[in-house]
Amino acid sequence: MIFYILTLFPEVFEGYRRASILGRAEEQGQVSMRLVNIRDFARDRHRTCDDYTYGGGAGMVLKPAPLAEALRSIPAVRERAGRGSGEGQEPGARVVYLTPSGRPWSQALAEQAARESEIVLLCGRYEGIDQRIVDAFVTDEISVGDYVLAGGEVAAMVLVDTVVRLVEGVIKAQSLAEESFRQGLLEYPQYTRPAQFEGRRVPEVLLGGDHARIERWRLEQSVAKTLRNRPELLRSRELPSEVAAIMKELEHG
Ligand code: SAM
Repeated sequence: MIFYILTLFPEVFEGYRRASILGRAEEQGQVSMRLVNIRDFARDRHRTCDDYTYGGGAGMVLKPAPLAEALRSIPAVRERAGRGSGEGQEPGARVVYLTPSGRPWSQALAEQAARESEIVLLCGRYEGIDQRIVDAFVTDEISVGDYVLAGGEVAAMVLVDTVVRLVEGVIKAQSLAEESFRQGLLEYPQYTRPAQFEGRRVPEVLLGGDHARIERWRLEQSVAKTLRNRPELLRSRELPSEVAAIMKELEHG
């Protein structure tokens, strides 16, 4: 899988690449992160990439021309434009603009994205990017949370990180099976050795080796944690009868 990342600050990604699952996946040839410096496509003497906002207002906006050229330097984007109007909806690499006004990113969207062969991530800065780039090229506007970051780079890393670990073969399928959000529940608490640490003991059930009891305990813990921290996850779907029963028990004390 190839991630193309369009950014004014490609250097931001190097530390992440060195110290993450991405670096290992790149070495093993499963994934490739290709950094495209938007400034390389600015044609004036000062390589200007931003300009004032039409209509007035504070802050600068990324200019359309360098962004359009940077996008067209990516073969899958050029191919799509060559096939039709280039309006962003026909098949081809998805072009994701990271923006606080986008759809919320989620594990479900990461799972869909992991099935793509190429994804283009566009990082904004300042007040954002010229809307005509969104209209002409962007297939998905994605937000990583209800807050405003200074730039799209951190958001792009969030996307890459969540997707890479789901690409087949990057990490063991078993490790993914019981993670938070997989079954609409948050994950149960995890413990490692020693069994006793600063007066706190690992729950007895985990030390006993009775797998049915361990599984039941983990499910109860997952339901309790989800009820406590993210009750809306339980309200938004039909619950398996086992989960509904645990919820009832918890709610009635
Ligand atoms: N003026 C924009 C607004 O109010 O929606 C905010 C621009 S923000 C300071 C600069 C850039 O950071 C954005 O273009 C976007 O790429 C990125 N960004 C900021 N917050 C983000 C978020 N929650 N999710 C994804 N990208 C974000």
